[in-house]
Amino acid sequence: GEVGEVITLKDLNKAAAESFPLCAKHLFRKMKEDHHLRHEGRRQLQLYLKGIGLALEEAMLFWKTEFCKKIPAEKFEKEYAYAVRHAYGKEGKRVDYTPHTCMKCIAANPGNGEHHGCPFKTFGEEGLRAALSGMSIKAAKVNEIVEKAKGQHYQLACGMTFEATHEGKTIDAGVQHPNQYFQESRKALGY
Ligand code: SF4
Repeated sequence: GEVGEVITLKDLNKAAAESFPLCAKHLFRKMKEDHHLRHEGRRQLQLYLKGIGLALEEAMLFWKTEFCKKIPAEKFEKEYAYAVRHAYGKEGKRVDYTPHTCMKCIAANPGNGEHHGCPFKTFGEEGLRAALSGMSIKAAKVNEIVEKAKGQHYQLACGMTFEATHEGKTIDAGVQHPNQYFQESRKALGY
């Protein structure tokens, strides 16, 4: 982060619980549950993790550890390792790809079994309610946030979620980017 915090693999669970926006939380949880993510979800999470400062070696270990709970290491190397290096600009055209903005996440239309995009748009009302309640947000506030999301004000709903989980602290500029959400959270938490 801006204050020089270095995120490593061993910090990831805690950082996810404390500071990931709902989009990244959801992908991270699905990865841990299923030990797999479809292409678009992998791409969104890979770039996001790069954006929070996770080094390539740490990222590779994360993906490999999770995927190899289901598939052999050989298959991981053949089918998935390239894409991790690619996200970090170490393969192909060697472009240092930028993590997805909120607009890009919101524009996505994940199909069945896909978990990318913005949950404030993609989760149904019940799913969103459950996710927010699971973040210890009070029922009245959950209702307010769900109403915002239903009105298609996804970034405002996300900002309200930040406020509800950071003791009333706000992202004054509005939520524009999942990595900005993370940075603001680390700042708010005093890292
Ligand atoms: Fe992620 Fe942005 Fe949606 Fe928040 S508004 S969940 S940061 S895509």
